[in-house]
Amino acid sequence: MAERPFIYRFTNDLRLDDHAGLAAAASHGAVFPLLVIDEATSARLRRSPRRAGFFCESVRALDVELRDRGSALCIRRGKAAAVIATLAREIGATGAAWSARYDGSAIDRDNRLQSQLEENGLTATIVHDAPAVAPEESAAVRSGDGPGYRAFAPYFEAWAQLPIASYEHPLLLRFARGEAASEALPEVHEFGGEPGGVAAGPVHARRSFERFLREHAAQYAFASRVPADDRTSHLSAHLSFGAISARSIVRAVRDRIADPFMLSEERMSLRLYLRALAHRDFFLQLSWFHAHTTDEPLQEKMRGFQWQRSHRALESWRRGTTGYPLVDAGIRQLRATGWMHPHVRAVAASWLCFDLGVDWRVGRDDWDRLLIEDDLALATGNWQWIAGIGADMAQYPRIYNPERQRRRYDPAGLYVRQWIPELRHVPLEEWYGRRSGSTQLSLSLYDGENYAPPSVEHAVAARAFLRRYREFASS
Ligand SMILES: Cc1cc2nc3c(=O)[nH]c(=O)nc-3n(C[C@H](O)[C@H](O)[C@H](O)COP(=O)(O)OP(=O)(O)OC[C@H]3O[C@@H](n4cnc5c(N)ncnc54)[C@H](O)[C@@H]3O)c2cc1C
Repeated sequence: MAERPFIYRFTNDLRLDDHAGLAAAASHGAVFPLLVIDEATSARLRRSPRRAGFFCESVRALDVELRDRGSALCIRRGKAAAVIATLAREIGATGAAWSARYDGSAIDRDNRLQSQLEENGLTATIVHDAPAVAPEESAAVRSGDGPGYRAFAPYFEAWAQLPIASYEHPLLLRFARGEAASEALPEVHEFGGEPGGVAAGPVHARRSFERFLREHAAQYAFASRVPADDRTSHLSAHLSFGAISARSIVRAVRDRIADPFMLSEERMSLRLYLRALAHRDFFLQLSWFHAHTTDEPLQEKMRGFQWQRSHRALESWRRGTTGYPLVDAGIRQLRATGWMHPHVRAVAASWLCFDLGVDWRVGRDDWDRLLIEDDLALATGNWQWIAGIGADMAQYPRIYNPERQRRRYDPAGLYVRQWIPELRHVPLEEWYGRRSGSTQLSLSLYDGENYAPPSVEHAVAARAFLRRYREFASS
């Protein structure tokens, strides 16, 4: 009897190599590749036109790779359960597999889909593909109550010792020849975006990583702090759409660190890079085991804390006109490119939460409309961390002083000048003034220039916030 195919439903795992989901599907039969554009997918893509462009390009690249292997991506639009059940009948498939997503609503949808398919008599398998170390693997080595890790330090200690699985060469992987009709590949205008020459897809992702490892990784410690340097790996969008596997990155970095002749500066940089990747896995497992935290603080004691939903200076934060150059440069970089330097993200998020006291969800959702990355669980974990209500175990939130950060990490103003044209030709010494006898940054420093004056005074606002936070946390 001819072997029956098994459907693999691609989601945020748009590649063929080192693929846990494909390997799982292949163990059931020849793999039939499917992409469903359902309402939830469309809604995510409509939120951010740049994300939509990146997704469409990544899908196109995946289809090319499949065609090189004698297959092709089958595209269907509609509700996932109905699409998969219909397709399974058409091609005689025994079931479907797909890879897990990690934010609360996606987890719910996946669980519902699994039940619906099983009710239809199909096998339905959800596989961890996005993290280098799957949540259950790290949880298995944890001692203590409750699922998974809530603190990063012990998580990282365990993560660093765990082996990384490889799905580089699954022996059984072969693709079914698609006889079923496919709809057209997704086009960016379908989601309200404009075509814009984005470089996406597995080949581009792998080249970017190899170049980073070869040319820039040794300076990662510096680059991750200094925004003008711009030599972090820039892999976040590729990782979020699964164009490259986190496992293959971690394996390659670990192999490189094993070189006994490596200079200590490079070793330190590579360790920091692994730490960044471990942070990714940490937040994914946090959201996996605590799905309600997509909208609620992880720290139970902070659940009733009153954040503001609006503020007279909120619009200035959104537009990058707060009067704090590092914050504004970061926001403008995000608006212009769909990406912001990692350290500047922390400073800009801190300003929103503490200088304005505005709800971290407002900031997260705002950036979600601008970012290319499609990773709500990572956005949530980071925003909660910064807001002092998530996994950071410090007693009080770390409030960044945006001016001190600028002086320390952009001392010559290179990054600021790149993104704030109003300051491009203003000599650095004229950016700042001090009121006589005051240690505070002057509020009228930019008089005579087009650049906005600070919309709130950092020291005053931060102190007031901290007082409120302390009172609430100790009540
Ligand atoms: C307030 C705030 C919001 C953020 N929102 C997002 C988001 O929506 N999506 C997202 O992918 N990252 C987010 N990050 C994490 C981090 O800033 C980005 O992953 C990073 O800027 C991407 O640039 P890169 O690829 O050059 O990173 P690199 O520094 O080169 O790091 C390599 C990879 O490690 C992962 N990584 C690094 N740092 C973190 C981290 N703190 N948490 C989780 N993963 C990490 C990313 O996948 C990244 O691509 C956020 C950080 C902050 C402070």
